[in-house]
Amino acid sequence: MSDDLSRLTSSAYSQALEVIAAVEPRIAQATRQELADQRASLKLIASENYASPAVLMTMGTWFSDKYAEGTVGHRFYAGCQNVDTVESLAAEHARELFGAEYAYVQPHSGIDANLVAFWSILAHRVESPALERLGAKNVSELTEADWESLRKELGNQRLLGMSLDAGGHLTHGFRPNISGKMFHQQQYGTDPATGLLDYDAVAAKAREFKPLVLVAGYSAYPRRVDFAKMREIADEVGATLMVDMAHFAGLVAGKVFTGNEDPVPHAHVVTTTTHKSLRGPRGGMVLATEEYAPSVDRGCPMVLGGPLSHVMAAKAVALAEARQDSFRGYAQQVADNAQSLAQGFLSRGADLVTGGTDNHLVLLDVSRFGLTGRQAESALLDAGVVTNRNSVPNDPNGAWYTSGIRLGTPALTTRGFGHDEFDRVAELIVDVLSSTQPGTTKAGGPSKASYVLGDGVADKVRAASAELLDKHPLYPGLELS
Ligand code: PLP
Repeated sequence: MSDDLSRLTSSAYSQALEVIAAVEPRIAQATRQELADQRASLKLIASENYASPAVLMTMGTWFSDKYAEGTVGHRFYAGCQNVDTVESLAAEHARELFGAEYAYVQPHSGIDANLVAFWSILAHRVESPALERLGAKNVSELTEADWESLRKELGNQRLLGMSLDAGGHLTHGFRPNISGKMFHQQQYGTDPATGLLDYDAVAAKAREFKPLVLVAGYSAYPRRVDFAKMREIADEVGATLMVDMAHFAGLVAGKVFTGNEDPVPHAHVVTTTTHKSLRGPRGGMVLATEEYAPSVDRGCPMVLGGPLSHVMAAKAVALAEARQDSFRGYAQQVADNAQSLAQGFLSRGADLVTGGTDNHLVLLDVSRFGLTGRQAESALLDAGVVTNRNSVPNDPNGAWYTSGIRLGTPALTTRGFGHDEFDRVAELIVDVLSSTQPGTTKAGGPSKASYVLGDGVADKVRAASAELLDKHPLYPGLELS
């Protein structure tokens, strides 16, 4: 940020906090504290980032007050001309940035984007042909008997997605999630020996299961995916390929993932969040081919209500930022830094799932330290290192305690961390984990949650982190009065 922008930002936020404090001072105080806490910690959560002040400020406006159900130029409320401007611009930036035929920017989150995608695929592949067969224009024209049989048909479809412990997301068919209930689901995993995706195994499963939807994409898989191969598999079995690029959208936008690693030219439907590596506001988005556009466009009223116009405006600002050349440099640095972090661990004898990374995250298997993911996560937090525990493939500790820690580079890269800093981060993490012992339960038995961190380690690591963080301040120049 230039000095002028820093001054403006400082005064805008200081004044906004005064306005908030006049109504509920505890919220103003919590907001100040959150900034202080974020500034003082090593944020390694792979799904988080720091959006620019321009993106953050765009969310705090009167667009929040406007209802705008419908689509651009076709709203169920009057007075939506400015929302139309915002939504059109966000969609245009998304189309241009990703080279997509169509972009739908209304989903409030990644889960919403996936729900829109699922129901759009069902509408396009199942509902529309059924209506045509029955000679009806829409479901309201169906008799009760026809509607009953259509509902059964809609509820009788199959989805194949990546399993949670191989790195997939809850919404990719996990039983407790609605995706695992609305579809008959099966999951593909990774090769037990290498931890890598085995495309032949995915193809074999797809041939046997014949899914309507093949989902690719992940939350915790530290490798790139060949989406051309996934499309071949989908085509062979007549499935729609849906890619959830929530985690790596920034690497697609920044042209680190190109060719077969760019999902947009290969998938029928691509979903994403806007707040992870893409560095925008919290939200979701769906990109689609022309063929799927009409059904995706019906996200509202199919699954969504009124769009969050203030967030769509912030998406437009973030996407405009991602179209600048500097974003490509950022995205490449995110991937380079993940390499540095991985090498930092490997050179200190730590175990990584798949033996490394080629995206923005690493998955550290903490079993070698004699810890569960839960113990490691808590000990690291004591030392000011913010991570999240994560299952590893076939995790003996299950999804709650886990055996892994997932670490991502997007946030600290935004702060300006480079190779040397990420190597030092790996060293500090290994220091904490090697100084942590599993604790015991109240009854004296082995515990998967409690832990004992060696004397003075947390303070030492906090001091070492502070040195790194001071060199790369968050929102440099932003001073709250
Ligand atoms: N899809 C993937 C791959 C994710 O990793 C996540 C979030 O972690 C989501 C979807 C859901 O996003 P949200 O939390 O915005 O609903």
